[in-house]
Amino acid sequence: MPVAGRLLIGGEWSAPRADFASHEPARWAEHVGTFPQATAAEVSDAVGAARATFPAWRRTSRVLRAECFDRLAQLIKRDTDALAELMARECGKNVTECRAEVVEGLHMVQYVFGSGRLPFGEVIASEIAEKDAFLRRKPWGVVGVITPWNFPFAVPLWMLGPSLLEGNTCVFKPSEDTPTVGQRLVELFAEAGFPAGTINLLHGDGEPGEALVRDARVNVVCFTGSYDVGRRIQEISASMHDRIVAAEMGGKNAVVVCDDARFDLAVTAGVLSAFKSTGQRCVSASRILVQEELFDRYAGAFVATARRLRFGDPLDPSNFAGPLVNPAAVEKVLGYNRLARDEGVAVLLELERPAGDGCFVPPFVYRTPHDAAMRSTREEVFGPHVALIPFRDDDEAVRIANATEYGLSLAVITESYRRMRLFRDECDYGMGYVNLPCIGAEVHLPFGGVKRSGNGHPSAAALVSAVTHPTAWTVNHG
Ligand code: NAD
Repeated sequence: MPVAGRLLIGGEWSAPRADFASHEPARWAEHVGTFPQATAAEVSDAVGAARATFPAWRRTSRVLRAECFDRLAQLIKRDTDALAELMARECGKNVTECRAEVVEGLHMVQYVFGSGRLPFGEVIASEIAEKDAFLRRKPWGVVGVITPWNFPFAVPLWMLGPSLLEGNTCVFKPSEDTPTVGQRLVELFAEAGFPAGTINLLHGDGEPGEALVRDARVNVVCFTGSYDVGRRIQEISASMHDRIVAAEMGGKNAVVVCDDARFDLAVTAGVLSAFKSTGQRCVSASRILVQEELFDRYAGAFVATARRLRFGDPLDPSNFAGPLVNPAAVEKVLGYNRLARDEGVAVLLELERPAGDGCFVPPFVYRTPHDAAMRSTREEVFGPHVALIPFRDDDEAVRIANATEYGLSLAVITESYRRMRLFRDECDYGMGYVNLPCIGAEVHLPFGGVKRSGNGHPSAAALVSAVTHPTAWTVNHG
């Protein structure tokens, strides 16, 4: 029975409306739920409700705000399996990975709960003996949270958690590909006792998303998604004098395999970086840079491992990964596979697509010519599309790694501290890994990138810099 989608505005759930459906990527004909596309008036009402609730929520003790997150943590623990299964059906990610994502969301909620009792300001010296000076961070007001489909549970929590703890109220618009997971998350917030109006839910595509961005009563937009949409949000927001935009966007990430690498570790790190979540993580690697001496042996082992991976039903935990998210993603990835061929690569692995209405696309692996400047090795593809790129020396590897507009994650596989340091200092990235895959996140570490990947307000715990502003507070006690 498909879920009946509803909006939540000022604590009131709307009547269900079926303007659009969310599908199962593994069986496209199956609907997970039907949803209302929020109208301009509903977007405005949601922002109005968040605005009206802000003064009371800001006045609520920080410790009491944090305690709502403790109750939310209990509910997420209670529902972990059901949440993971729902997510696997709606976004197509394997249920084992979905479970890990629920646990990551739980970690964020626990982190926020714990932070409620930690200091949130500083005492600063004054030039005058009779003065005490304090730095206090204050909430901005209303935070618009706009999220992608690929981490439909953890990414919203990365942004909702710090925003609400600090005393902001939120209007949340999940991806139109994963509205059921978004709605389930908001139902848990409501059950945990977050007061009416502190979190408001809108459904729909870019249209209500953009209406939310255009509403000048929204102080902060926390966006995670593609560069093109993030850029548009930044452009619209540029005309608002005090709008903050925290934008976490795409990646074209690389794993650099040096000739001194432990071979098996290098193969495993490359394969996991490229194909976990079917290459649909912002941090997925679509470029594996391999030192020339090692290239043929590495390419052979990489392709043999990739060929054995099982892409199938996301609800079967024995599968390695699932389908792409929707038919448009299938067209996009197949288009990039054709483009790479047209750009003159040597195809090393291309398998038949399975029959049926699932959005399955098998791995596509190719070798590029030396020093190739190609669209397929510079642009984000977001699928199992991987270039193996040979390099001669470390300086060349740095040049290739940086030859993209993105700068999100990077892995270096080497036994040399000197070489690791060179890549650490010379490459453009936000998250660096040594002898590990370039995927993965921990909520207490900043998660963000440079260039087209982010604008300097990393998500997760570090997002506090975007959703609060520092104030100096000086008291004469003389
Ligand atoms: P997307 O940009 O298509 O959509 C993201 C969200 O923006 C959705 O909710 C969508 O409805 C909304 N949106 C679309 N147009 C809008 C507009 N004009 N105004 C306001 N909102 C609008 O991204 P996606 O396909 O859902 O997700 C994949 C992308 O997200 C990839 O580029 C991936 O790299 C990126 N991503 C980045 C991170 C990170 O932390 N850097 C994490 C996960 C995903």
